[in-house]
Parts: sequence; C-alpha cells; structure tokens
Amino acid sequence: MKTFCILSAFVLIGTCSTTKYTTKIQNLKDSITLADSILVVNYANTITKEELTTHLYAFSSDDFEGREVGEKGQKIAAEFLKSYYQNEAIESPYGGSNYFQTIPEGFFSNGIKASENVLAFIEGSEKPEEIIVISAHLDHLGVNDDGQINNGADDDGSGTVAIMEIAQAFNNAKKDGYGPKRSILFLHLTAEEIGKKGSEFYVNHPAFPLKNTITDLNIDMIGRVDKNHTNNKNYIYLIGSDRLSKELHYISEKVNKNYTNIYLDYRYNVEGERNNYYSRSDHYNFAKYGIPVIFYFNGEHNDYHKPTDTPDKIDYKLLEKRTKLIFATAWQIANQEHRLTTDENNKFLN
Ligand SMILES: [Zn+2]
Repeated sequence: MKTFCILSAFVLIGTCSTTKYTTKIQNLKDSITLADSILVVNYANTITKEELTTHLYAFSSDDFEGREVGEKGQKIAAEFLKSYYQNEAIESPYGGSNYFQTIPEGFFSNGIKASENVLAFIEGSEKPEEIIVISAHLDHLGVNDDGQINNGADDDGSGTVAIMEIAQAFNNAKKDGYGPKRSILFLHLTAEEIGKKGSEFYVNHPAFPLKNTITDLNIDMIGRVDKNHTNNKNYIYLIGSDRLSKELHYISEKVNKNYTNIYLDYRYNVEGERNNYYSRSDHYNFAKYGIPVIFYFNGEHNDYHKPTDTPDKIDYKLLEKRTKLIFATAWQIANQEHRLTTDENNKFLN
C-alpha cells in the first residue's frame, strides 16, 4: 500500500509538470496574432517568379566569374547589388552612396584580398532601433583551374535575389504608407564560402547594436529540390528556428500555415544531426550572440559546389513561394506589437 502511494505521487508530479510545459507552449502559441494579413498578401504578391528569374540570370551569369571573394567577379556582384538598391531608392544604413562594409585584407589569410558586405536598410516607423536582419551570401567559388565558372545560381544566387525581391516588397509597402514598424537590414554577406568570414566581420562591426538585433533570417540555397523531396517539392528545410526563441518558431509556423503552406522539414534541425548545418552558414555568427535565427535551405543536390549549379536548373515558382514565406515571417516580426522574445525573456515560458 505504501509503495503504491509513493508511485502515485510520482505519477502525479510527472503528469503535472508535463502538462504545465504543454500549457505554457499552448499559451505562447495562442498569444501569436498575425499582423496585417491583407497587406502581407498584397505585398507578397509583388514577389514574382519573373523578377526572380531576371535577377538570378544576371547575378549568376558568366560575367560575374563565380563571385570569388576579393576578386573581380565578386566586386561586380557587390556593385550590381548597390546599383539595384540605388535604383529602387532603398537606402544604405551608412548613408549616401556608401552601401559597402569593407573587410580589410588583414582580416583574411591566404592572400585573400579585401572584400565587401553590401547593406541596404528600411528604417522602422515606430521602433527604428529594433533591427531585423535578412541575410544571404553574395560570394561563391570563382573559376576552377580548368576555366569552368562556378555560377552558384542556387548557392547563393537564390538567397540573394530573394532578398532583392523582399526588400522591394517592403519598400513598395512603405511608399503606400505601410512601412515596417521596426527596421529591416538587407545584408548581403561576402566570404561565406571561405568560412563565414563576412558574417563574422559583421557581428564584430555591426551597423546597429547586436543587443537590438532581434533576429537573423538567413537564406542559403532555396531554388532547388533535393533527393528527399522529388515526389513533393513543396518543402523547405528550416534549421534553428526553435533553438533560442520558441516564439520565433511558432510565428514561422503560423505564418506559413496562413500564407504559404509549405511543408517545413525539420530533419536537419535535430541536435547532433551529422551534417550540422546549424553551424554551417552565416546565421550561426548571429546565434553565437544569442540572436534567434532561422536558416532556410533546400538541401544539397548533385550540382552543389559544381560549375553545373546554373540558373536554368532553378525552380522559379518554388523560389517565389519560399521567398514569400520569408517575407511574411519578416513582416510579422517587424510589425507585431511586442518585440520578439528569446526563451529566457518569454513570460509564457518562465
Ligand atoms: Zn551557400
């Protein structure tokens, strides 16, 4: 009888604490209210496969010589992005015509020359000091010894042109009087391919204090389909979304359910997963500082890091849909009432 009582007490305590955590999570989920649904749909619809196609054929053309860090092709890529933002009348956080954050040669090793991150910025109307970063890397592998160009259409031309279209959509909204409440930094990083050095430099020399940088949505390869999804290509891998902010994770899920209905595949988000993609692109340098991140990724394919990663192999309709998901997620974080919380600061979880 005595034994039975103790067991019952154990069971009861176990049940109570489990329920309690489930309830906390449910309360957190219930607290997420989507902002401005009609506007999100309207401006998401300005992101089109036609424009993504035009941008990506330019950005991954042979003229850009594979965009090798510090080399001529990478400089052409940086100038291309600067011209785009100037034409769109989207400002730089540095002001005037200075869109580049120059990384000196001394920051690199192995004779790599100075290189540039490219930054564009839309200032928030109500909380301009709070910054949402949307990032992708602009560099790639350059030209092989046998003269073959690594066009890097998926890696990471796809992420680059997604940001161009997302920036234009936010800017269109702003022109109509619906600018974001919080600020958005469009961050095109260099030197990812040699070890995420562009993002490492950025977090060491941020344009805005990291304590007010509330998330990094990082895009690295979102234009293709991998072997795991040949039968249903309506997917994207999300990595990192729940690691520092459960709120970010549930915002991302709710936004997707409401606007895009893409299958969100979390298999690479499992801690200890052997590929360890969480540490392998630029978002990781933000996560190191406790900034919640989401890494958007289509997985590897046969053309990964090969000269055959060309723009004709991109699925532009899919790229459009994935880009809309990222835009809508950024819109929510930029415009919801309260600042995105980390788990440490989330009243529902503590
Ligand atoms: Zn990449």
